[in-house]
Amino acid sequence: MRRHPRCVGLAAPQVGSLLRVAVMDATGHPKVKSSRGLLVLVNAQILKAEGDLIQREGCLSVPDLTGNVRRFKRIFLRAYDEQRQMRQFELDGFESIIAQHEMDHLEGKLFLDRVENTAMDVFRRRNYAA
Ligand SMILES: [Zn+2]
Repeated sequence: MRRHPRCVGLAAPQVGSLLRVAVMDATGHPKVKSSRGLLVLVNAQILKAEGDLIQREGCLSVPDLTGNVRRFKRIFLRAYDEQRQMRQFELDGFESIIAQHEMDHLEGKLFLDRVENTAMDVFRRRNYAA
């Protein structure tokens, strides 16, 4: 995750591990005002979800495309952290989207599976300078 510019999350299946583990960190990203820093999510579950929003998403596993995806705006999440402590989070906006995107990877789903209209809502990715 740290090696790729603008990457804010990674799920274990993306690196060949079939564990229900994901990491995310939106620190410094223009879409977040204050980030929680690195979150390690083990066996994460969404307890409650509210609202919805549509935002452009990209993914290391789909390097050439981005897409508009509808997600819950706010989620209440329970997960174990790297010290095996149960933690609960309320994630809103961009951080909520990241967590949902990474949790989809654990189910074998990509953001492209959630695009409502592939003709209108999928785009070729701009090249980010490394
Ligand atoms: Zn992804």
